[in-house]
Amino acid sequence: MVSFTENDAGAAVPEVRRVLILGGGSAGLLAALTLKRLHPALDVQMVRSSEIGVIGVGEGTTAVFPAHLFQTLGISKEEFYREAQPTWKQGIRFLWGPREEFLYDFEFQYDRQFPGMPKPTGYYATGDCTDLSQATALMNRQKAFTTGPLGKPLIKGQYAFHIENHRLVECLEAIATRSGVIITDDTLDHAEMADGQVAALHFKSGERRTADLYVDASGFRAELIGKALDEPFESFSDALFCDRAVIGGWERTDEPILPYTTAETMNHGWCWQIEHETFINRGYVYSSSFVSDDDALAEFFEKNPKVTTKPRVVKFRSGRYRRNWVGNVVAVGNASGFVEPLEATALAQTIYECRWLAESLRVTGCRPDETNVGFYNRIIGIAWDEIRDFLAFHYKFNTRLDTPFWKHCREATSLGNYEAVYQLYREVGPNPVLLFHALPERPNIYGVEGFLAMLVGMQVPYERPHDAAPQERELFDRQRAQIASAAKGGVTVKQALDAIRKPSWQWT
Ligand SMILES: Cc1cc2nc3c(=O)[nH]c(=O)nc-3n(C[C@H](O)[C@H](O)[C@H](O)COP(=O)(O)OP(=O)(O)OC[C@H]3O[C@@H](n4cnc5c(N)ncnc54)[C@H](O)[C@@H]3O)c2cc1C
Repeated sequence: MVSFTENDAGAAVPEVRRVLILGGGSAGLLAALTLKRLHPALDVQMVRSSEIGVIGVGEGTTAVFPAHLFQTLGISKEEFYREAQPTWKQGIRFLWGPREEFLYDFEFQYDRQFPGMPKPTGYYATGDCTDLSQATALMNRQKAFTTGPLGKPLIKGQYAFHIENHRLVECLEAIATRSGVIITDDTLDHAEMADGQVAALHFKSGERRTADLYVDASGFRAELIGKALDEPFESFSDALFCDRAVIGGWERTDEPILPYTTAETMNHGWCWQIEHETFINRGYVYSSSFVSDDDALAEFFEKNPKVTTKPRVVKFRSGRYRRNWVGNVVAVGNASGFVEPLEATALAQTIYECRWLAESLRVTGCRPDETNVGFYNRIIGIAWDEIRDFLAFHYKFNTRLDTPFWKHCREATSLGNYEAVYQLYREVGPNPVLLFHALPERPNIYGVEGFLAMLVGMQVPYERPHDAAPQERELFDRQRAQIASAAKGGVTVKQALDAIRKPSWQWT
């Protein structure tokens, strides 16, 4: 039974007591767990289709993910590490731009100034840009964590994960079921509509299900937000030109498990390398306007001769729905929008969506009104657009190759709402304090740090470089050496995995 209240605008909106989530991939499960944890009184049901299955890709996270899992959702680390079997990621190693490589972590390399130095770090990172943060010093040495007493890994700070998608989904589904989420296997047949809203969902089993709020977590199919509600899709095609990925991998033999994702420039896009404990996953993201599937596959194999799995091509379109919350439907995950995984942002964006949904219910006492829904759509839209613009910086300034694809990226990529950040950088250089004032509207997920990591990493020129005196340079290098010294005694991913599997290991 739906109960109604009057909102500020005078429109009747239902009180949310029963939520029906369509889809049980990582997005549906994160939505279910977040809602159940933050609103235990809600009746949360989920229907997902084993006939359709999950997308099966999406294996790198950002630091938002472990923080949400362990702190917000209170998931047991012991269970998660046992069942999902993640490895750790301290950031991304970019084979990108004119340098041989540069690193991007979840800490601060460029939004900082070393003690006693007259300028922020970016001004000194003209040649060697290594060891500017603890995380990159670890990555540089293929270490996952520093160590504490008795040489135990200090698993803390801003780390992220590599996780196989199926393992993650199985693990989260078991936890969701235990938390009281009712999960049913069925396939949506059609949505019953009334007054432009979803009135019920009809499934192939013949079931008709109703709820106060429907969460569309049906992946790229976007069954409710796209098909039933026909919400316009805003393409990101003026900034992101890739639309396909070919994915394959091989069983790990003697390769070290690297504590980072690798992103490598390719002729018509880029290739990721994701590090699972027993498997190495590669994926070539490319633009079908510049290369055929067959030629992309040939380049993929040439770069990755060890690939043994049958390569799989996934097609996608970059963009987002104009509104993610329409009437009594909220879309999350791939159903709400998509960008390629160059910064592995999808799970973080999904968490952002779920957190704001839970927050909207909290501040309105589960009676979200038009103001609240409008705010939700604005903030989620801004977050999507920021991700688009951040990825655009990666494309606009990558001078590594002169193929038609990369020439086009340099000429045609729009920097969107962050154009002013680049223009100011050109003038003042990597000055985080000044650049902060050029940032557009919140949320600023990446902050000045993210944009500087790309601009400095790719050695994008600016007008007034700093000519450091020899003693200044020496002081700078001494501080980098100090950062590096703690990383030298660190542990590898393999050593850290062995440590947490010892019976004596205790999570704090
Ligand atoms: C090439 C590629 C690489 C990626 N890499 C990353 C990455 O490194 N990091 C990252 O965070 N993300 C990545 N992503 C995004 C990733 O896919 C998502 O983060 C996430 O794993 C998938 O979320 P989902 O739950 O929205 O979709 P899905 O996994 O597709 O789940 C959809 C669910 O809806 C159900 N469903 C669909 N239609 C119906 C229906 N009619 N009836 C009933 N149920 C239905 C399905 O059965 C399934 O349970 C990548 C995506 C692609 C394409």
